[in-house]
Amino acid sequence: MTFESLQLNSAILKALRKENYETPTPIQAQSIPAALAGRDLLGCAQTGTGKTAAFSLPIIHRLSAQARKGGGKRVIRALILTPTRELAIQIMDNIKAYSQFTDLRSLVIVGGVPQRPQERDLAYGCDILIATPGRLIDLINQKHVDLKDVETFVLDEADRMLDMGFIHDVKRVIAKLPAKRQTLFFSATMPPEIAQLVKTLLTDPVKVEI
Ligand code: AMP
Repeated sequence: MTFESLQLNSAILKALRKENYETPTPIQAQSIPAALAGRDLLGCAQTGTGKTAAFSLPIIHRLSAQARKGGGKRVIRALILTPTRELAIQIMDNIKAYSQFTDLRSLVIVGGVPQRPQERDLAYGCDILIATPGRLIDLINQKHVDLKDVETFVLDEADRMLDMGFIHDVKRVIAKLPAKRQTLFFSATMPPEIAQLVKTLLTDPVKVEI
């Protein structure tokens, strides 16, 4: 198995070579074809398995193949929700590396830092938004974020969202997403409340377990 055989575009393949990624990890080999085909995904995987690239590479591939709507201001076409500031920054660093030869712009929104610079960055626009739930809800309520153009939604570490008490904020964010979208859902464990969320959120998902 190679990244070339997964049909990723040349800008991504170039970035992966630069980052010294030689072969896809098992979760990447299973997830990437399904996500590229537009399927919903249910991934049971821990951090360290390569799950960030598993959900990011198909997003970057699809978004970089599409012209920006109206050729004008960037709108948020992919949203990645993750429970902690550290994970959000790590995901953004990875996405920046994977998309370095594309013209996609990604942005990270986390709590615990001043909001004004985030408002300015959002006004400038981005294609991919990586966020923690609390600050994102604040910015949505204050009309600094509009999720109506989101095509792919990633829920990362869903079980940790529950443990950390973020599940209501997560549900509030989901309520703002278009009904017609692709959802990529990751959780290391499947407690009942998460299993219920999976049922309401995913349509005929491809299941990937590591
Ligand atoms: P993650 O599980 O997404 O946090 O990834 C764990 C680490 O593995 C990160 O440092 C990635 O940069 C690295 N990584 C992910 N996929 C690959 C790959 N196919 N080849 C080499 N390194 C990888």
